[in-house]
Amino acid sequence: MAQADGIRLAVLAGDGVGPEITAATVDILQAAASRVDLRTKLETLPIGWKAYKKSRSTLPEETIDALRGHTGWILGPTFAGEYPKDDPIKGHPSGYLRRNFGLFANVRPVKAWPQLEPLIPDLDVTVIRENTEGFYPDRNLAWGYGEFLPTADVALSLRVITGAACDRFARFVLEYATALGHSSVVVLHKRTALPQTEGIFIGAFDRLKKAFPKLEVELVRIDTFSSALPREHKRFRLVATTNLFGDIASDQASGLAGGVAVAPSLNAGIEQAMAQAVHGTAADIAGKNLANPTALALSTAMLLRWFDQKKRNKRCRAAAGLIEHGIQGAMKAGVITQDLGGRATMSAFTKAVIKAIGEAPASVLK
Ligand code: ATP
Repeated sequence: MAQADGIRLAVLAGDGVGPEITAATVDILQAAASRVDLRTKLETLPIGWKAYKKSRSTLPEETIDALRGHTGWILGPTFAGEYPKDDPIKGHPSGYLRRNFGLFANVRPVKAWPQLEPLIPDLDVTVIRENTEGFYPDRNLAWGYGEFLPTADVALSLRVITGAACDRFARFVLEYATALGHSSVVVLHKRTALPQTEGIFIGAFDRLKKAFPKLEVELVRIDTFSSALPREHKRFRLVATTNLFGDIASDQASGLAGGVAVAPSLNAGIEQAMAQAVHGTAADIAGKNLANPTALALSTAMLLRWFDQKKRNKRCRAAAGLIEHGIQGAMKAGVITQDLGGRATMSAFTKAVIKAIGEAPASVLK
């Protein structure tokens, strides 16, 4: 929990490259925190394969109970759908956490990275998607699974959209836009094909927008967005949409920016938030000291900024700025990991980030 001058965070390492990049992220976080006298208390909790081998669950009760007492946590990547069938979490611990802890807004800022030879060098788009319902069968029913097979060649998939989830999501989006100084929000939809569900989603923004008179709320069809994004990306600085559309839209933007390996994200609720990299477990490079911790470290910076917004903790904001500065600093110094075309190992990169944090000028600490 955020204290007057410190924060408590849980750390869940995950699978594949997860343990390495969470360890690197924690080192980077602690370097930034100590530079601004932000006290951090970290609690490591079991998740994923390691947890399953010990307690037959990828998200054991002890982890779920402990997370109830935390305001924020860092989640390393977990495998999706590759755990044993008897896993009570059904092989999707990240989805379980999003739904059961009410982390209803998934914020994905996508910025072009020069090292990735982006198709659009000045791309800067943030996609916020509703995270708890929609077309995701593991989280849209109170009991059972939202996709089923009545006969061998008939498959049905349920998409759930509720007024309550849309209202809290719309409020989050409009408050987020205001806090970050945006002048407009684009709501992506497909009301022409799905008038009822999309109608409820759009209705939430229609009802609430009067309370945010400085913000322009524009409706754009998701298919129009897809074709217009490459040419009119400046129109789409901040977009908000339902769960599956948001998943696709953020990956489309990431593709134009150069790839998902450095893309951060935050899963936010009313009282809790979870930092999570957009990429997966990257099992091909796990344990080789080759992974890039950038996405998870930048996700952690987002979590610190969320703490600042919630708890008015300026040290959190300053630590977030330092993490971002440290990553840029390491890259400017030419310490670049292999995924971005460099030769640095993960530990060399982490060391360079920490060095840049230590040498950051006072202007970064504000
Ligand atoms: P999963 O099955 O968990 O989704 P995946 O390997 O199929 O994992 P990603 O983890 O997103 O999907 O990775 C795709 C490729 O991008 C990987 O093969 C890896 O080489 C690279 N990659 C992803 N994340 C990183 C990272 N943090 N550092 C370096 N390379 C990465």
